[in-house]
Amino acid sequence: MTIDQNLIAKIAAEVMARVQARQPETASGGAGIFQTVDEAVAAARAAQKQLKKLTIEKREELIKAMRQAACDNAVLLAEMGVSESGMGRVSDKVIKNRLAATKTPGTEDLKSEAWSGDRGLTLIEMGPYGVIGSITPTTNPSETVICNGIGMIAAGNAVVFSPHPTAKDTSLVTIKLLNEAIIKAGGPPNLLTAVAEPSLAATNAMMQHPDINMLVATGGPAVVKAVMSCGKKAIGAGAGNPPAVVDETADIEKAAKDIIDGCSFDNNLPCIAEKEVIVVGSVADKLMAYMQRYGAYLISGPDVDRLANVILTEKAELAAAGCTEKPKKSYAVNKNYVGKDARYILSQIGIQVPDSIRAVICETPAEHPFVVEELMMPVLPVVQVKDIDAAIELAVKVEHGNRHTAIMHSKNVDNLTKLAKAIETTIFVKNAPSYAGIGVGGEGFTTFTIAGPTGEGLTSPRSFTRQRRCVLVDALSIV
Ligand code: NAD
Repeated sequence: MTIDQNLIAKIAAEVMARVQARQPETASGGAGIFQTVDEAVAAARAAQKQLKKLTIEKREELIKAMRQAACDNAVLLAEMGVSESGMGRVSDKVIKNRLAATKTPGTEDLKSEAWSGDRGLTLIEMGPYGVIGSITPTTNPSETVICNGIGMIAAGNAVVFSPHPTAKDTSLVTIKLLNEAIIKAGGPPNLLTAVAEPSLAATNAMMQHPDINMLVATGGPAVVKAVMSCGKKAIGAGAGNPPAVVDETADIEKAAKDIIDGCSFDNNLPCIAEKEVIVVGSVADKLMAYMQRYGAYLISGPDVDRLANVILTEKAELAAAGCTEKPKKSYAVNKNYVGKDARYILSQIGIQVPDSIRAVICETPAEHPFVVEELMMPVLPVVQVKDIDAAIELAVKVEHGNRHTAIMHSKNVDNLTKLAKAIETTIFVKNAPSYAGIGVGGEGFTTFTIAGPTGEGLTSPRSFTRQRRCVLVDALSIV
């Protein structure tokens, strides 16, 4: 689907004007967008104070209104996201927006604990942190604002967002629409804020601001490192490179379909999406044949090298500091192709295919850059190995210790257990597309902030709370 940039700009302007017109009583119209970081933080701080005075029941009403607004605008935000960032598929982003709106947990996620006995009652409650700085990616712009917005407010916080500059309008419109819904439901203005011109400098100022109590980074390794070095409580949700392992016991046709469905979802932008396939040799040909039946286009020989020249850029680096040996090659992903349609990517090497082709597959050696790099596009390398032990060893290696996501197709419980234990990922999906791991076609809640590096796992409201203990001695134990 091609979207006119002018049309998107017009829609964004209309939405912003509508929100501003309805809420003229504060500097930002209550819609959360400010010129400076100081203003954005101060407004969020004031909003959080008001939120604290509301009951949990009222907080849940605000969440309900946010969910409704996100669902009502799921298509608009999907269209904006694809048009502005130039990445992804509108129909899949609609699913992601609705998923974030409906399956992000609310206040029910906050659980109290109690001890009672001879000496009275001790209670642990989950209280808000205060104002959270949330840094969001270009790959899931509206999805992450919806998900983190719901989860952080459910926990009683206000949020200052630092969106990726390449998805600025989509992120800011999402913030405005959610604020508008909150205000309409009787909540305070500016519970979600951001600056009008997001930048690295603004993000750094936000991170250092004394009134930001907690940082949450959803993005690549640089931003995760940045928040973890900040001296504040930080949640880091970083990069993945999820392998999909297939052994000889799997239902090969289903595995092929699931892998193509998962890897092509939103053009491979999700951090959980299948990024490489590792298959036991005896079933490799069958798997690749079925993958082609379910929407993959197979390339081989010189076409693989030509594709590599298009989607990768080459960097020369010294093998080690002070080393006098020849520089070794390393590769970076050409951002122009991140999140693009398979059809477009293939056209760059002169191959024309119909829209029904959703992924490009090719057989490669284990050390190929398509396997090693997190491509984030529907180009899926397939590596053959001799047996399950070799598959597990390679899967652990190419996941790079991110401990993010792995997928396996197998009917052998011992093999499944062996990989799960060895790879130690936050998400391990068995016999399904990767997105089952975030609640699409699988059980459980969703999140778009999967915190492997700092260990919260699939974040939910309770991840954004502080535990507080209240002790009453010699009373209120009634047995
Ligand atoms: P990115 O790291 O380029 O940007 C993410 C955010 O961090 C942006 O807002 C950006 O402006 C900011 N940022 C980047 N470097 C920074 C620095 N040094 N200091 C401060 N802020 C900085 O990532 P992206 O391209 O937007 O998103 C894709 C990456 O994010 C992939 O690696 C993907 O795996 C990862 N991701 C992870 C999750 C998760 O839940 N674990 C979710 C989505 C995306």
